[in-house]
Amino acid sequence: MDRSLSQLSKLACCEPGEVSAFWPWSVTRGEEGELRFGNFSASDLLSQFGSPLYVLDEDDFFGRATVWVSAMAESFWEGYGMSGATVSYATKAFASGYAIKLALDAGLSLDTATAGELGLALRAGAVGAQLGLHGNNKSDAELELAISHDVAHIYVDSLEEVERLSHVSARLGKRANVMVRVTTGVHAGGHDFIATAHEDQKFGLSLASGQAEQAARSAAANEHLNFLGLHCHIGSQILSPSAFLESALRLLKLRSVLLESGVEVPELNFGGGYGVRYLPSDPLPLSPAEFAPRLAQTIREYCLSRQESVPHVLIEPGRSIVGPAGVTLYQVGSIKEVPLEDGTTRTYVSVDGGMSDNLRPALYGASYTALLANRVSREPLRLSRVVGKHCESGDIVVRDVALPADLQRGDILAVPVTGAYGSSMASNYNLVPRPAVVGVGAGQVRLHIRRESEEDLWARDLLVSEK
Ligand SMILES: *Cc1c(COP(=O)(O)O)cnc(C)c1O
Repeated sequence: MDRSLSQLSKLACCEPGEVSAFWPWSVTRGEEGELRFGNFSASDLLSQFGSPLYVLDEDDFFGRATVWVSAMAESFWEGYGMSGATVSYATKAFASGYAIKLALDAGLSLDTATAGELGLALRAGAVGAQLGLHGNNKSDAELELAISHDVAHIYVDSLEEVERLSHVSARLGKRANVMVRVTTGVHAGGHDFIATAHEDQKFGLSLASGQAEQAARSAAANEHLNFLGLHCHIGSQILSPSAFLESALRLLKLRSVLLESGVEVPELNFGGGYGVRYLPSDPLPLSPAEFAPRLAQTIREYCLSRQESVPHVLIEPGRSIVGPAGVTLYQVGSIKEVPLEDGTTRTYVSVDGGMSDNLRPALYGASYTALLANRVSREPLRLSRVVGKHCESGDIVVRDVALPADLQRGDILAVPVTGAYGSSMASNYNLVPRPAVVGVGAGQVRLHIRRESEEDLWARDLLVSEK
């Protein structure tokens, strides 16, 4: 226990005045010991916007977006004999109107997967040329929305969808821009990848079965469709480039087969899944500046050796842009010592949120850390578990973390790297209102998404709301 405690205590952030590379750019410890987001202390933010609260560091988000855009632009620059690149932000990781505006300002395109995401992007100012639509079960209404706005990429996920897209396009008198989503057999996440897996999953059309090629040919031959190319997405939280490069080679080979028979394939999309550090002890993630040139080199060498044109390349990062830019603030409630079988105790620290604002620990066993945010304590550290307020024993926020022994009700805990798949996966379980999202940047704070009220929760219940 001592060893794990000393490992965990290394997770603590900065001394007063110091900045930590692990936290978003704007985060510092103020001289009074409070964690600050730019000009705003954790306690100021909670008193203004309520607890729990998602805080998005807008400068950090914008910076990560810019780094991806510029790394890809440089490596795939037309002046180097390439055909350019597009970085399309996966809005499912986090979307608010302001975040979408920031993403567009940074030069990102946007991926969506439902009418809800597509509609938000359009309302926030995106145009069809900046948008993509995914989904393994798109409704006719979703296809219609995308086609009528001339969405740049609609990712076909089944043979049947090619026909449906054709009908909807014909009805609207438009040509849908189509990519075929391919399962390449490469699956990754974490360090390793499997290169020979069965395609036993709901997404895409498999390379091995020939269905991907069949869909591409049928889309290319269809007069109502504008066939643009092939897509793959091999997993999430991937930390090494090898799986991406292997999957890229498989898409390139399918492209060659299509090119040989006269089908043009101007674009390839290699999806998202770039990992982030959830704990300071996690390995460093792939840096865009290292990854982009390696991807470009793989593609250039392949195409040169076969005397093929170089395709325009797309990637779709979500988590790696918004994950580290977000922090969740919670207020501490009840604290109890639970005796364990081995004679020791575990400190359970309950906070005012939990699986309704961060589902990932319950859904994937994901690990996070937490930090006392409203003051610095010099008390000894205790091995603690931060849990939520929901009626579920799996409602864990942070499984193991070293927190000071004088932690008390009313203290504020900050959980970093919650920008991706936090707010976007939030629920109303136990009829808990979803937290607000605020953006901090350029010395300002602004409300992106207001906090839900209890009235909001009841509003859809017809017995109660009509009283
Ligand atoms: C989820 C998803 C992404 C983004 O994944 P991250 O792990 O957040 O980078 C990109 N493309 C597709 C098709 C996805 O489903």
